Amino acid sequence: MEVYPIPMVPGPVKVPEDILRVYQTNYGAPGLEATFWDLYHETEFRLQQILETRNRIVIQTGEGMLALWTALRSCLKPGDRVLSIATGVFGYGIADMAKSIGAEVMTIGLEYHETLNDLRPVEKAIGDFKPKMITVVHCETPSGTLNPLDGLGKLKKAMGVPLLYADVVSSAGGAPVRVDACHVDLALGGSQKCLSAPPCMAFLSISDRAWEEIERVNYNGYDALKPFRRIAETRRFPYTPYWHGVAALNAGAALVLTPGLEDSFKRHETIARHCRKAIVEMGFALFPSPPAVPSPTVTAVRVPETLPWEELDRRLRQKGLVVGGSHGKLAGKVFRLGHMGSQADTALLDKALTVLRDVIGGAGR
Ligand code: PLP
Repeated sequence: MEVYPIPMVPGPVKVPEDILRVYQTNYGAPGLEATFWDLYHETEFRLQQILETRNRIVIQTGEGMLALWTALRSCLKPGDRVLSIATGVFGYGIADMAKSIGAEVMTIGLEYHETLNDLRPVEKAIGDFKPKMITVVHCETPSGTLNPLDGLGKLKKAMGVPLLYADVVSSAGGAPVRVDACHVDLALGGSQKCLSAPPCMAFLSISDRAWEEIERVNYNGYDALKPFRRIAETRRFPYTPYWHGVAALNAGAALVLTPGLEDSFKRHETIARHCRKAIVEMGFALFPSPPAVPSPTVTAVRVPETLPWEELDRRLRQKGLVVGGSHGKLAGKVFRLGHMGSQADTALLDKALTVLRDVIGGAGR
Protein backbone atom coordinates (compact mmCIF):
# COMPACT_ATOMS: atom_id res chain seq x y z
CA MET A 1 0.00 0.00 0.00
CA GLU A 2 1.29 3.45 -0.95
CA VAL A 3 1.76 6.02 1.80
CA TYR A 4 1.68 9.67 0.78
CA PRO A 5 3.62 12.18 2.90
CA ILE A 6 1.62 15.13 1.50
CA PRO A 7 -2.07 14.38 2.13
CA MET A 8 -4.42 16.92 0.56
CA VAL A 9 -7.56 14.84 0.02
CA PRO A 10 -10.67 16.80 1.08
CA GLY A 11 -11.63 14.24 3.70
CA PRO A 12 -10.93 12.01 5.35
CA VAL A 13 -8.10 14.31 6.37
CA LYS A 14 -4.86 13.39 8.11
CA VAL A 15 -5.60 12.54 11.76
CA PRO A 16 -3.18 14.40 14.10
CA GLU A 17 -1.26 12.40 16.72
CA ASP A 18 -3.19 13.93 19.66
CA ILE A 19 -6.48 12.80 18.19
CA LEU A 20 -5.12 9.34 17.27
CA ARG A 21 -3.97 8.93 20.86
CA VAL A 22 -7.43 9.44 22.37
CA TYR A 23 -8.95 7.32 19.58
CA GLN A 24 -6.68 4.40 20.44
CA THR A 25 -7.10 4.60 24.21
CA ASN A 26 -8.82 1.74 26.05
CA TYR A 27 -12.01 2.98 27.68
CA GLY A 28 -14.60 1.37 29.93
CA ALA A 29 -18.17 0.29 29.22
CA PRO A 30 -19.72 3.02 27.05
CA GLY A 31 -23.15 4.21 28.04
CA LEU A 32 -22.85 2.71 31.51
CA GLU A 33 -20.22 4.98 32.97
CA ALA A 34 -20.49 8.58 34.10
CA THR A 35 -17.14 9.35 32.43
CA PHE A 36 -18.64 8.50 29.04
CA TRP A 37 -21.58 10.83 29.61
CA ASP A 38 -19.27 13.64 30.72
CA LEU A 39 -17.36 13.18 27.49
CA TYR A 40 -20.55 13.05 25.40
CA HIS A 41 -21.90 16.28 26.90
CA GLU A 42 -18.56 18.05 26.64
CA THR A 43 -18.47 17.12 22.94
CA GLU A 44 -22.03 18.39 22.48
CA PHE A 45 -21.03 21.66 24.11
CA ARG A 46 -17.97 22.07 21.88
CA LEU A 47 -20.00 21.33 18.77
CA GLN A 48 -22.57 23.91 19.86
CA GLN A 49 -19.76 26.46 20.04
CA ILE A 50 -18.45 25.50 16.59
CA LEU A 51 -21.91 25.68 15.04
CA GLU A 52 -22.76 28.82 17.09
CA THR A 53 -26.00 27.42 18.38
CA ARG A 54 -27.93 26.78 21.56
CA ASN A 55 -29.77 23.94 19.84
CA ARG A 56 -29.31 20.43 21.14
CA ILE A 57 -26.64 18.30 19.47
CA VAL A 58 -26.99 14.61 18.64
CA ILE A 59 -23.86 12.55 18.03
CA GLN A 60 -24.22 9.32 16.09
CA THR A 61 -21.85 6.51 15.17
CA GLY A 62 -21.35 6.62 11.43
CA GLU A 63 -20.20 8.85 8.60
CA GLY A 64 -21.58 12.21 7.55
CA MET A 65 -24.05 10.54 5.17
CA LEU A 66 -25.77 9.07 8.20
CA ALA A 67 -26.65 12.55 9.48
CA LEU A 68 -27.99 13.50 6.04
CA TRP A 69 -30.32 10.47 5.91
CA THR A 70 -31.21 10.66 9.59
CA ALA A 71 -32.53 14.22 9.38
CA LEU A 72 -34.67 13.44 6.33
CA ARG A 73 -36.09 10.20 7.70
CA SER A 74 -36.85 11.61 11.13
CA CYS A 75 -38.47 14.83 9.93
CA LEU A 76 -40.38 13.89 6.78
CA LYS A 77 -43.39 11.78 5.96
CA PRO A 78 -44.32 10.68 2.43
CA GLY A 79 -45.99 13.59 0.64
CA ASP A 80 -44.23 16.32 2.65
CA ARG A 81 -42.93 19.11 0.47
CA VAL A 82 -39.21 19.73 0.20
CA LEU A 83 -37.55 22.58 -1.65
CA SER A 84 -34.05 21.41 -2.51
CA ILE A 85 -31.40 23.92 -3.46
CA ALA A 86 -28.89 22.04 -5.57
CA THR A 87 -25.57 23.47 -6.69
CA GLY A 88 -23.54 20.28 -6.79
CA VAL A 89 -23.27 16.55 -6.18
CA PHE A 90 -24.57 16.61 -2.61
CA GLY A 91 -27.35 19.15 -3.23
CA TYR A 92 -28.79 17.10 -6.09
CA GLY A 93 -28.15 13.93 -4.07
CA ILE A 94 -30.16 15.20 -1.10
CA ALA A 95 -33.09 15.98 -3.43
CA ASP A 96 -32.97 12.36 -4.65
CA MET A 97 -32.76 11.05 -1.10
CA ALA A 98 -35.85 13.06 -0.09
CA LYS A 99 -37.71 11.72 -3.17
CA SER A 100 -36.73 8.17 -2.28
CA ILE A 101 -38.52 8.47 1.04
CA GLY A 102 -41.67 9.74 -0.63
CA ALA A 103 -41.33 13.51 -0.27
CA GLU A 104 -42.65 15.77 -2.98
CA VAL A 105 -39.52 17.61 -4.08
CA MET A 106 -39.07 20.85 -5.99
CA THR A 107 -35.46 21.49 -6.99
CA ILE A 108 -33.84 24.85 -7.60
CA GLY A 109 -30.91 23.59 -9.62
CA LEU A 110 -27.80 25.60 -10.45
CA GLU A 111 -24.66 24.64 -12.32
CA TYR A 112 -21.92 23.02 -10.26
CA HIS A 113 -19.60 26.03 -10.63
CA GLU A 114 -22.27 28.38 -9.20
CA THR A 115 -23.46 29.26 -5.70
CA LEU A 116 -26.78 30.52 -4.40
CA ASN A 117 -26.27 34.28 -4.72
CA ASP A 118 -29.70 35.24 -6.05
CA LEU A 119 -32.52 34.43 -3.63
CA ARG A 120 -35.39 35.59 -5.88
CA PRO A 121 -36.09 32.11 -7.35
CA VAL A 122 -36.12 30.71 -3.81
CA GLU A 123 -38.56 33.36 -2.64
CA LYS A 124 -40.87 32.59 -5.55
CA ALA A 125 -40.61 28.83 -5.02
CA ILE A 126 -41.43 29.18 -1.30
CA GLY A 127 -44.47 31.29 -2.18
CA ASP A 128 -45.73 28.86 -4.86
CA PHE A 129 -44.75 25.50 -3.38
CA LYS A 130 -45.04 26.13 0.39
CA PRO A 131 -42.40 23.62 1.44
CA LYS A 132 -42.14 22.10 4.88
CA MET A 133 -38.37 21.90 4.51
CA ILE A 134 -35.65 23.65 2.52
CA THR A 135 -32.44 21.70 1.96
CA VAL A 136 -29.09 23.25 1.12
CA VAL A 137 -25.43 22.26 1.14
CA HIS A 138 -23.11 24.82 2.72
CA CYS A 139 -19.82 23.64 1.23
CA GLU A 140 -20.15 21.51 -1.91
CA THR A 141 -16.89 19.60 -1.46
CA PRO A 142 -16.80 18.07 -4.98
CA SER A 143 -16.88 21.52 -6.59
CA GLY A 144 -15.17 23.66 -3.90
CA THR A 145 -18.05 26.12 -3.49
CA LEU A 146 -19.74 27.68 -0.46
CA ASN A 147 -23.43 28.59 -0.52
CA PRO A 148 -24.12 31.58 1.75
CA LEU A 149 -26.62 30.62 4.46
CA ASP A 150 -27.52 33.96 6.05
CA GLY A 151 -29.86 35.37 3.39
CA LEU A 152 -31.50 31.99 2.91
CA GLY A 153 -32.04 31.66 6.65
CA LYS A 154 -33.62 35.10 6.89
CA LEU A 155 -35.92 34.32 3.97
CA LYS A 156 -36.95 30.99 5.48
CA LYS A 157 -37.79 32.72 8.74
CA ALA A 158 -39.63 35.64 7.11
CA MET A 159 -41.72 33.31 4.95
CA GLY A 160 -42.49 30.89 7.77
CA VAL A 161 -40.94 27.74 6.31
CA PRO A 162 -40.85 25.25 9.19
CA LEU A 163 -37.46 23.64 8.60
CA LEU A 164 -34.09 24.60 7.13
CA TYR A 165 -31.77 21.61 6.60
CA ALA A 166 -28.11 22.41 5.94
CA ASP A 167 -25.32 19.98 5.11
CA VAL A 168 -22.30 21.48 6.87
CA VAL A 169 -20.16 18.33 6.66
CA SER A 170 -17.18 20.05 5.08
CA SER A 171 -17.62 23.57 6.46
CA ALA A 172 -18.25 23.09 10.21
CA GLY A 173 -15.13 24.29 12.00
CA GLY A 174 -13.55 25.78 8.87
CA ALA A 175 -16.16 28.38 7.92
CA PRO A 176 -18.78 30.20 10.00
CA VAL A 177 -22.01 28.20 10.01
CA ARG A 178 -23.88 30.38 12.57
CA VAL A 179 -26.78 28.02 12.99
CA ASP A 180 -28.87 30.28 15.24
CA ALA A 181 -28.24 33.50 13.32
CA CYS A 182 -29.08 31.70 10.04
CA HIS A 183 -32.17 29.95 11.49
CA VAL A 184 -30.86 26.50 10.57
CA ASP A 185 -33.07 23.81 12.12
CA LEU A 186 -30.97 20.83 11.14
CA ALA A 187 -27.20 21.29 10.66
CA LEU A 188 -25.50 18.07 9.66
CA GLY A 189 -21.82 17.38 10.20
CA GLY A 190 -19.17 14.69 10.14
CA SER A 191 -15.93 13.99 11.97
CA GLN A 192 -13.53 13.53 9.07
CA LYS A 193 -13.26 17.02 7.57
CA CYS A 194 -12.49 20.21 9.56
CA LEU A 195 -12.62 18.27 12.85
CA SER A 196 -9.67 16.11 11.76
CA ALA A 197 -10.99 12.91 13.38
CA PRO A 198 -11.37 9.47 11.78
CA PRO A 199 -14.44 9.04 9.53
CA CYS A 200 -16.63 7.41 12.13
CA MET A 201 -18.93 10.02 13.68
CA ALA A 202 -21.85 12.13 12.49
CA PHE A 203 -23.50 14.97 14.38
CA LEU A 204 -26.58 17.13 14.06
CA SER A 205 -27.84 20.29 15.68
CA ILE A 206 -31.60 20.18 16.10
CA SER A 207 -33.90 23.15 16.74
CA ASP A 208 -37.01 22.99 18.93
CA ARG A 209 -39.13 23.20 15.77
CA ALA A 210 -37.30 20.20 14.32
CA TRP A 211 -37.80 18.23 17.57
CA GLU A 212 -41.55 18.89 17.28
CA GLU A 213 -41.48 17.46 13.79
CA ILE A 214 -39.40 14.48 14.94
CA GLU A 215 -42.08 13.69 17.57
CA ARG A 216 -44.86 14.05 15.01
CA VAL A 217 -43.20 11.91 12.34
CA ASN A 218 -42.26 9.33 14.99
CA TYR A 219 -39.78 7.52 12.74
CA ASN A 220 -38.37 4.37 14.23
CA GLY A 221 -35.11 2.78 13.16
CA TYR A 222 -31.41 2.45 13.80
CA ASP A 223 -30.86 6.00 12.55
CA ALA A 224 -33.90 7.55 14.28
CA LEU A 225 -33.44 10.83 16.16
CA LYS A 226 -36.32 10.42 18.58
CA PRO A 227 -34.44 8.19 21.05
CA PHE A 228 -31.84 10.95 21.43
CA ARG A 229 -34.31 13.56 22.63
CA ARG A 230 -34.12 12.76 26.34
CA ILE A 231 -30.76 11.08 26.37
CA ALA A 232 -29.34 13.48 28.98
CA GLU A 233 -31.96 12.29 31.48
CA THR A 234 -32.38 8.65 30.43
CA ARG A 235 -28.69 7.98 29.70
CA ARG A 236 -29.90 5.32 27.30
CA PHE A 237 -28.20 5.34 23.92
CA PRO A 238 -30.11 3.55 21.11
CA TYR A 239 -27.07 1.30 20.54
CA THR A 240 -23.65 0.80 22.10
CA PRO A 241 -22.02 4.20 21.87
CA TYR A 242 -18.61 4.46 20.22
CA TRP A 243 -16.52 5.84 23.05
CA HIS A 244 -13.33 6.04 20.95
CA GLY A 245 -15.17 7.86 18.18
CA VAL A 246 -16.75 10.38 20.55
CA ALA A 247 -13.35 10.93 22.18
CA ALA A 248 -11.74 11.61 18.80
CA LEU A 249 -14.56 13.96 17.78
CA ASN A 250 -14.23 15.79 21.09
CA ALA A 251 -10.47 16.18 20.62
CA GLY A 252 -11.05 17.41 17.07
CA ALA A 253 -13.59 19.95 18.29
CA ALA A 254 -11.15 21.13 20.96
CA LEU A 255 -8.51 21.62 18.27
CA VAL A 256 -10.89 23.81 16.25
CA LEU A 257 -11.63 25.89 19.35
CA THR A 258 -7.93 26.40 20.21
CA PRO A 259 -6.94 29.20 20.34
CA GLY A 260 -10.40 30.28 19.14
CA LEU A 261 -13.12 29.64 16.58
CA GLU A 262 -12.50 32.90 14.72
CA ASP A 263 -8.80 31.95 14.46
CA SER A 264 -9.81 28.70 12.81
CA PHE A 265 -11.98 30.55 10.29
CA LYS A 266 -9.20 33.05 9.58
CA ARG A 267 -6.63 30.28 9.15
CA HIS A 268 -8.84 28.47 6.65
CA GLU A 269 -9.60 31.68 4.74
CA THR A 270 -5.94 32.74 4.57
CA ILE A 271 -4.77 29.33 3.39
CA ALA A 272 -7.55 29.11 0.81
CA ARG A 273 -6.63 32.52 -0.64
CA HIS A 274 -2.97 31.53 -0.74
CA CYS A 275 -3.91 28.28 -2.49
CA ARG A 276 -6.14 29.93 -5.09
CA LYS A 277 -3.56 32.60 -5.87
CA ALA A 278 -0.76 30.04 -6.35
CA ILE A 279 -3.00 27.81 -8.47
CA VAL A 280 -3.90 30.66 -10.79
CA GLU A 281 -0.26 31.79 -11.02
CA MET A 282 0.65 28.27 -12.16
CA GLY A 283 -1.77 28.68 -15.02
CA PHE A 284 -4.55 26.41 -13.74
CA ALA A 285 -8.18 27.54 -13.86
CA LEU A 286 -10.20 27.48 -10.66
CA PHE A 287 -13.47 25.57 -11.00
CA PRO A 288 -15.92 27.94 -9.22
CA SER A 289 -16.38 30.95 -11.45
CA PRO A 290 -17.28 34.45 -10.22
CA PRO A 291 -19.62 35.45 -8.65
CA ALA A 292 -19.65 31.95 -7.10
CA VAL A 293 -18.21 31.86 -3.58
CA PRO A 294 -15.19 29.55 -3.26
CA SER A 295 -14.98 27.48 -0.10
CA PRO A 296 -12.25 28.23 2.46
CA THR A 297 -11.91 24.50 3.12
CA VAL A 298 -11.32 23.04 -0.35
CA THR A 299 -10.05 24.36 -3.68
CA ALA A 300 -11.41 22.82 -6.86
CA VAL A 301 -9.28 23.17 -9.98
CA ARG A 302 -10.00 22.33 -13.61
CA VAL A 303 -7.84 19.49 -14.91
CA PRO A 304 -5.79 20.99 -17.77
CA GLU A 305 -6.64 19.70 -21.25
CA THR A 306 -2.99 18.93 -21.90
CA LEU A 307 -2.66 16.60 -18.91
CA PRO A 308 -5.43 14.04 -18.36
CA TRP A 309 -6.48 13.44 -14.74
CA GLU A 310 -5.10 9.88 -14.56
CA GLU A 311 -1.67 11.05 -15.67
CA LEU A 312 -1.71 14.12 -13.41
CA ASP A 313 -2.75 11.98 -10.44
CA ARG A 314 -0.04 9.39 -11.19
CA ARG A 315 2.66 12.05 -11.39
CA LEU A 316 1.53 13.76 -8.16
CA ARG A 317 1.44 10.47 -6.27
CA GLN A 318 4.93 9.60 -7.53
CA LYS A 319 6.12 12.73 -5.72
CA GLY A 320 4.21 11.94 -2.54
CA LEU A 321 1.20 14.23 -3.03
CA VAL A 322 -2.32 12.86 -2.97
CA VAL A 323 -5.19 15.17 -3.91
CA GLY A 324 -8.86 14.40 -4.51
CA GLY A 325 -10.36 13.74 -7.92
CA SER A 326 -14.05 14.59 -8.19
CA HIS A 327 -17.41 12.90 -8.51
CA GLY A 328 -20.25 12.51 -11.00
CA LYS A 329 -20.07 14.79 -13.99
CA LEU A 330 -16.93 16.44 -12.59
CA ALA A 331 -14.99 13.14 -12.59
CA GLY A 332 -11.79 13.56 -14.63
CA LYS A 333 -12.47 17.27 -15.08
CA VAL A 334 -11.79 18.65 -11.61
CA PHE A 335 -9.23 17.88 -8.93
CA ARG A 336 -9.31 19.21 -5.38
CA LEU A 337 -6.95 20.28 -2.65
CA GLY A 338 -8.47 19.78 0.79
CA HIS A 339 -7.02 22.41 3.12
CA MET A 340 -9.37 21.74 6.02
CA GLY A 341 -8.76 20.85 9.67
CA SER A 342 -5.30 19.34 10.12
CA GLN A 343 -4.58 20.10 6.45
CA ALA A 344 -5.23 23.83 6.85
CA ASP A 345 -1.51 24.13 7.30
CA THR A 346 0.61 26.55 5.26
CA ALA A 347 3.74 24.36 5.36
CA LEU A 348 1.78 21.34 4.11
CA LEU A 349 0.04 23.35 1.41
CA ASP A 350 3.33 24.86 0.24
CA LYS A 351 4.77 21.36 -0.16
CA ALA A 352 1.73 20.41 -2.21
CA LEU A 353 2.03 23.53 -4.37
CA THR A 354 5.72 22.83 -5.00
CA VAL A 355 4.89 19.33 -6.23
CA LEU A 356 2.11 20.68 -8.43
CA ARG A 357 4.47 23.24 -9.95
CA ASP A 358 7.10 20.54 -10.63
CA VAL A 359 4.65 18.15 -12.12
CA ILE A 360 2.67 20.36 -14.43
CA GLY A 361 5.71 22.10 -15.95
CA GLY A 362 3.48 24.63 -17.64
CA ALA A 363 0.71 22.15 -18.51
CA GLY A 364 -1.71 24.19 -16.42
CA ARG A 365 -1.72 26.85 -19.10
N1 PLP B 1 -21.81 16.17 2.48
C1 PLP B 1 -20.74 16.70 1.91
C2 PLP B 1 -20.81 18.11 1.43
C3 PLP B 1 -19.57 15.95 1.76
O1 PLP B 1 -18.50 16.48 1.19
C4 PLP B 1 -19.54 14.61 2.23
C5 PLP B 1 -18.34 13.80 2.06
O2 PLP B 1 -17.45 14.09 1.30
C6 PLP B 1 -20.68 14.10 2.82
C7 PLP B 1 -21.80 14.90 2.94
C8 PLP B 1 -20.74 12.71 3.31
O3 PLP B 1 -19.88 12.55 4.39
P1 PLP B 1 -19.21 11.13 4.67
O4 PLP B 1 -18.27 10.89 3.54
O5 PLP B 1 -18.54 11.33 5.99
O6 PLP B 1 -20.30 10.13 4.72
